[in-house]
Amino acid sequence: MRIAMIGTGYVGLVSGACFSEFGVHVCCVDKDAEKIERLKRGEIPIYEPGLDDLVARNVAAGRLSFTLDLKEAMQGVDAVFIAVGTPTRRGDGHADLSYVYAAAEEIAANLDHYTVVVTKSTVPVGTGREVESIIRRVRPAAEFDVASNPEFLREGSAIGDFMRPDRVVIGAGSERAAEVMRRLYRPLYLIETPIVLTSLETAELTKYAANTFLAAKITFINEIADLCEKVGADVHDVARGIGLDGRIGKKFLHPGPGYGGSCFPKDTLALVRTAQQVGSPLRIIETVVDINDKRKKAMAERIVAACGGSVEGRTVAVLGVTFKPNTDDMRDSPSLDIIPALQKAGAHVRAFDPAGMHEAARLLPGVEWAKDAYGTLQDADCVAILTEWNEFRALDLKRVKASLKRPVMVDLRNIYNPEDMVRAGFSYSSIGRPGKA
Ligand code: NAD
Repeated sequence: MRIAMIGTGYVGLVSGACFSEFGVHVCCVDKDAEKIERLKRGEIPIYEPGLDDLVARNVAAGRLSFTLDLKEAMQGVDAVFIAVGTPTRRGDGHADLSYVYAAAEEIAANLDHYTVVVTKSTVPVGTGREVESIIRRVRPAAEFDVASNPEFLREGSAIGDFMRPDRVVIGAGSERAAEVMRRLYRPLYLIETPIVLTSLETAELTKYAANTFLAAKITFINEIADLCEKVGADVHDVARGIGLDGRIGKKFLHPGPGYGGSCFPKDTLALVRTAQQVGSPLRIIETVVDINDKRKKAMAERIVAACGGSVEGRTVAVLGVTFKPNTDDMRDSPSLDIIPALQKAGAHVRAFDPAGMHEAARLLPGVEWAKDAYGTLQDADCVAILTEWNEFRALDLKRVKASLKRPVMVDLRNIYNPEDMVRAGFSYSSIGRPGKA
């Protein structure tokens, strides 16, 4: 089989490379000439574990290629996937569909045989129908069907998520399109991956329902963590105590500074707007959005409090700025709220992140960037852990303590044990656990 993938970002590049690993011929297209040049040279423009080997292997096998030219990419394809960004539209919180619609126009101009046009981007209900009418308007006689195939991969474990997903959701407008999609995902049928085959609208909504549910679960445990702090309970034991109930499940019950990243913030907001627009408001998700926004902002206050109520003229060492480990993605990371708030309160921030500093340097002016974790600490008044990268989990605590001006640690990811930290002589605070010294 043969497909074109429009957009070589976190989703398009990973999905394209994984489909080629399944044996499909994949041509990835992007408008960003620099990205395509780098990919052609064998460089991977994003940080995603395992992606370099996967891409190199499939390029060498002649199944994966990159181009700026959609016409070339669409030659002889069974399907063309749209995997472009759908960020929050400025001003009103709806998803910005301009990239998706632009891609639809470009596809229309290049259709020359029956092709399934698949939206892989996360798009509001009704977008597939709009893509269909855009193409129909430009090319009334073209032979095509539109399908929705939302992507559930997570950055940092994207390849494994794509290759062994919990399920695949396909919304297809016709049996012919459904058959093309079934053939594309045949390797996953063979490992008995459940395939939810449904309508376009249902597939589109399923993606938002999944992301908003997960955002609500995180927000729930964050609020329980706050309550734990007030009543002297331990949120980790609460999470385990409820998570072992099969109806609740263990995952996504880890408290932290509030969800961030390229999906949850924009998708929760977009679904809230869709629901309001059709007169069926999602009050739970409206509240989740509000709580999470306030939470990210409140995290800076925790750090200020740990520094004795003021950071004026103080140095705060920050470990991790990406929204989660194993990615360089900075979109909507809690650090983008926390660090400017600390700076506004008069702090000098010295930070390190294993993969995110290049992008972060652009977004966080005034931060002093260190070469490694220990490089942030010298004479700092406090160290704050914002992202749970593995290399921050086993720091040499003696060295940390010796480097800091005061042994103060604010662990917003709960990667250290409170008793150990107190024993090591730290004034340690984390989220939702007793043992604050
Ligand atoms: P991204 O911003 O990393 O990549 C989008 C790419 O599309 C960019 O390289 C851009 O240059 C390119 N592009 C835009 N318009 C184009 C056009 N007309 N022709 C060719 N290329 C074009 O975005 P992403 O993180 O990969 O997300 C893509 C979609 O997938 C979004 O809707 C997102 O919500 C969804 N999604 C993302 C994730 C994730 O973890 N990042 C997971 C699941 C779903």
